[in-house]
Amino acid sequence: MLTLHSPLSGWCAPLDETPDEVFAQRLLGDGVAIDPTGDTLHAPCDGEIVSVAASKHAVAVRADIGAEILLHVGIDTVALNGEGFEALVQPGERVRQGQPLLKFNLDVLARGAKSLITPMLITNGDRFSIADACVGLAVEVGDALFKVVSEAGDTASASTGGAGQEQALTFVVPLAHGIHARPAAVIANFAKAQATEISVLAHGRTANARSAVSLMALGLKHGDEMTLIANGAGARATLEHLKQLVLGITEAPHAADTPPGDGAKSARSPAAGYSGAQDPAQALGKRGQMGVQDPSQTRAAKEGFAGREANDSPPATSGRLRGVIASRGLAVGRAVTLKAAEIAVVEAGRGIGHESAEFERARDEVRARLNQLAQHSQGAAKDVITAHLEFIDDWELVASARRTISRGKSAAFAWRRAVRDSADTLRSLGDPRMAERVDDLIDLESQVLLALNGEAPTAIPALPERAILVAEDLKPSQLVSLDATKLAGICLAAGGPTSHVAILAAAMGVPALVALGPGALAVEDGAWLVLDAEQGNLSISPDQIALAAAEQTLAQRRQRQQTERAAAHVDCRTADGVRIEVFANLASIAEAQVAVAHGAEGCGLLRTEFLFLERDSAPSEEEQLQQYQGIAGALEGRPLVIRTLDIGGDKPIPYLPLPAEENPALGLRGVRTSLWRPDLLRVQLRAILRVHPVEQCRVLLPMITDPAEIRAVRRMLDEVRRELSINEPVQVGAMVETPSSAVIAARIVREVDFLSIGTNDLTQYTLAMDRGHAELAHRIDGLHPAVLNLIAMTVDAADEQDKLVAVCGGLASEPAAVPILIGLGVRELSVVPTLVPQLKSLIRTLTVEACRSLAQRALSLDTAEAVRALANETMTPARGLLPAQ
Ligand code: PEP
Ligand code: MG
Repeated sequence: MLTLHSPLSGWCAPLDETPDEVFAQRLLGDGVAIDPTGDTLHAPCDGEIVSVAASKHAVAVRADIGAEILLHVGIDTVALNGEGFEALVQPGERVRQGQPLLKFNLDVLARGAKSLITPMLITNGDRFSIADACVGLAVEVGDALFKVVSEAGDTASASTGGAGQEQALTFVVPLAHGIHARPAAVIANFAKAQATEISVLAHGRTANARSAVSLMALGLKHGDEMTLIANGAGARATLEHLKQLVLGITEAPHAADTPPGDGAKSARSPAAGYSGAQDPAQALGKRGQMGVQDPSQTRAAKEGFAGREANDSPPATSGRLRGVIASRGLAVGRAVTLKAAEIAVVEAGRGIGHESAEFERARDEVRARLNQLAQHSQGAAKDVITAHLEFIDDWELVASARRTISRGKSAAFAWRRAVRDSADTLRSLGDPRMAERVDDLIDLESQVLLALNGEAPTAIPALPERAILVAEDLKPSQLVSLDATKLAGICLAAGGPTSHVAILAAAMGVPALVALGPGALAVEDGAWLVLDAEQGNLSISPDQIALAAAEQTLAQRRQRQQTERAAAHVDCRTADGVRIEVFANLASIAEAQVAVAHGAEGCGLLRTEFLFLERDSAPSEEEQLQQYQGIAGALEGRPLVIRTLDIGGDKPIPYLPLPAEENPALGLRGVRTSLWRPDLLRVQLRAILRVHPVEQCRVLLPMITDPAEIRAVRRMLDEVRRELSINEPVQVGAMVETPSSAVIAARIVREVDFLSIGTNDLTQYTLAMDRGHAELAHRIDGLHPAVLNLIAMTVDAADEQDKLVAVCGGLASEPAAVPILIGLGVRELSVVPTLVPQLKSLIRTLTVEACRSLAQRALSLDTAEAVRALANETMTPARGLLPAQ
């Protein structure tokens, strides 16, 4: 409970006596009104100045418990345009109770205003009510006027000691990408559920923890200090809880298996894109976490930006534009142009009550539509809608718009201003991850503005077959509402390759170019286009010969894919008859179905940590069993390699907060975490062994560094087998993903039934380059000769003991690497599910002999670039390693 003190000396009256229906009817909130005798307005409590009206006649203060107090000097004083007022504080300033806020000239006000009576009220009445108001009496500055009671029953006090004392908790942001949208949403959701107000202090600025937008605007990066502040009983525990939550926030998984050039922007069928089979890294726009970056893509991006300048003049109605590749592929079709009309907004409101009601109606309408859309969406589309749902109720955005409405502005003007102020702040951080959220904010801005105007949410025309959408920019909500079966491609004059639209387009399997420049806007409706999102070119109205050539390439590609799909279910052998098994890496039941449809022969790696990513409690044995059994069923008896939890490093999990570590990649990870929390390992092993039939499953242990770790897990496994009366032996494998396990592979392999090489981590640890490091992304290359030599040592050790060795890291999904791996002796690959057909068809063209000599040469080279150059040069149809196209 908070006591508000009189800001003025004078006569305190009930609000009903205010000669203005907005205040009298409590449309802005409940409180009291003071007819002043003094000329200085004082702070009624400790807090922060939220706003000072441009005409300086009103001030809003946010108390530490979160109550927002509006002090409005006089009635109709806005018309004085600041005459007679002097503001003594600024927005954002911290004030103490009794501190002077405004000075005003009583004579000027008495002459120019309808009344001097000054309402003091609580504007967030949904969360706070008032009690014990003292009215009908003379008051002095500082007299207690009424109490503010939190609707949630909070007993926090703004300024008294004891249980109400302010608590602060400072720690370092552990997340690799700082407090970006998802962590901000996690914090905001936690804060909204607390009775006590929580503030986050960083870089000398404060954000209300209930507002994801304000949290993002703090620009908190990895390693920055953040301080959580709260008041009241239980505040310490609440802050501790929030801190643990932040420490445990999971960064999105890396595009671990994603092969260069096809992963983050892989062309998937619309069905696959929306079926949740999409790489989680795509959904979150984590391009920087690609295991290996596609050099051609980087080049295209660079050239694209250079091209953008070239595209600036003059706009082209035919010819060619250069763009940045946002989703790879080739499309031929007709232009459907989308001219975005700016939504006109009138500044002046039609009464505070009317505008407030309209604002709530429009938000209700948009929220209801988003909720409906969310029910039918999955994957990246769902992520976009979730972001919009978060923002529509963002505490700070909504409060800011309401404040503007209370100053007499229209709801549309208020919402636009609130959104654009936040968007500007996010842009100014210079962080591309935050800038991506600007797309979402601007999208939501127009959704609410259209709802205020009573218009339909999108103005996208119905698409003809083979439509290539051409626009200045595209809003994510517009894209998800399009008929993906008719959309052949997307060309945007603006946009960026990591925007949500780019991510969605990739998930839908729609080729897209962005940053084409203003030339794209001159494209005429219905013009033929060739969109080459492999090279970064858009040909506008190409001549018949060029069009026919593009059609032919497209037809050949489709045919090749069809042929590959048709042969995908046949066992895969090299041209000289050596059997190579092609399995799939999985993280869900949906992916298992996609894998089987694409001819996968089993699952070579089930990343179990991704099955229960967003939870804040550990999954039970039954919950795990249900998932594993579902995947085993979807695989229809094919082998299922279940990896025990690989938590830690860049895969923290909310339900298992790990101690703060200087260098998490070198800390508690993989099997180390499981042995640190044997209770969790036991539950997981029990769930795995209960899958029916038990012989379908194999257990794979991540991050093994020595045989002792394997023996420790085996002991527990034997106990669990006894508990469950399982007599059959269970196959156990070790991942070789640390240099130590490769170097002593001969000793490791003695303890297990098979090995599986995790090239993503093996590359990271061998090259001492963080696999999530954006700057180093182009150098973290599994084709580095050091990595290849470790793979060769591992395969030789396994061969000597006649044990199987598979590769399940991203290298196995790379066409350039596959011949080398086969040449090194690898006979089982576990790959991205949708790539199984393409890789099988590649393998069928190879001879082991040619692969061996390629691999031997690769081992002796100096750099990854040299190995890539050799692979590219060798893998030509003329040299017999690749089929003629
Ligand atoms: C790897 O490191 O190559 C691997 C397959 O494991 P993850 O990518 O899940 O760390
Ligand atoms: Mg790994």
